[in-house]
Amino acid sequence: MVRSDSYTPPATSRYECTGCLSRFESDSHLVDCPECGEPVRNVAVPRE
Ligand SMILES: [Zn+2]
Repeated sequence: MVRSDSYTPPATSRYECTGCLSRFESDSHLVDCPECGEPVRNVAVPRE
């Protein structure tokens, strides 16, 4: 069954590295920064 909700969740998640503070978007679960290997955290997109 295919649902067609009007709300479509974002296809990608945003992450921020706790080491180098680089930000990434990934459609898969990231745990380590691809740049420096430090843990990343999922950051919500701020909405005004
Ligand atoms: Zn990093």
